[in-house]
Amino acid sequence: MGKGSLIVVSGFSGAGKGTVMKKLVSSYENYVLSVSMTTRTPREGEIDGREYFFVTRDVFEKTIRENGLLEHAEYVGNYYGTPRAYVEKMQEEGKDVLLEIDVQGGMQIRGKFPEAILLFLVTPSAAELEKRLSMRHTETPEQIRRRLLRAREEAVFIPSYDYVVINDDLEACAQEVDRIVRSAKCAPNRKRAFVEQMTKDLSLLVEES
Ligand code: 5GP
Repeated sequence: MGKGSLIVVSGFSGAGKGTVMKKLVSSYENYVLSVSMTTRTPREGEIDGREYFFVTRDVFEKTIRENGLLEHAEYVGNYYGTPRAYVEKMQEEGKDVLLEIDVQGGMQIRGKFPEAILLFLVTPSAAELEKRLSMRHTETPEQIRRRLLRAREEAVFIPSYDYVVINDDLEACAQEVDRIVRSAKCAPNRKRAFVEQMTKDLSLLVEES
């Protein structure tokens, strides 16, 4: 079995990344979700070790020093990062690992792992994004404004991603992400070992004949 892919899913906070990721994991066997570490306070209903590993700044900074994170970034005043060990283990087991991370993290992954597949998830419109953020009732109006400002900043990075996916309907969106991942895996840079072997074998065949 080949090594699993690294799939970055970024997008505006409120675009529904979490829901789409959960749908992918429950609908297809090949996906697993990386659980990030963060210094932000848990929202109602969030459980330590499920949505995030909630830690203090001291613990987070110690993990950075020990090279325990694949990437990390500061987002609206809090640290977020991807624990390295779980991602590497899952990839070795052939699983496609979903990283739901912000654009700073996405760009770090692009630099370190050029074969990673980068998707950017958006709402059908800016007005829809504001509506979804307000409907969550977990953020104050000021926090919503900060998240919208942040979305405007993040939009600048969209051209650096491989694909843009519009999240209009959950089911359709999860299917589209899966289709994209399956075709992206066929790109020559992600089939390098196979292509090299094929080229060598062809040379051998030609020389023998
Ligand atoms: P939230 O506080 O809404 O759960 O997440 C805020 C932002 O942090 C989202 O854009 C989310 O994708 C991002 N994020 C979550 N985990 C990570 C991570 O491990 N690394 C980075 N760079 N961003 C993350």
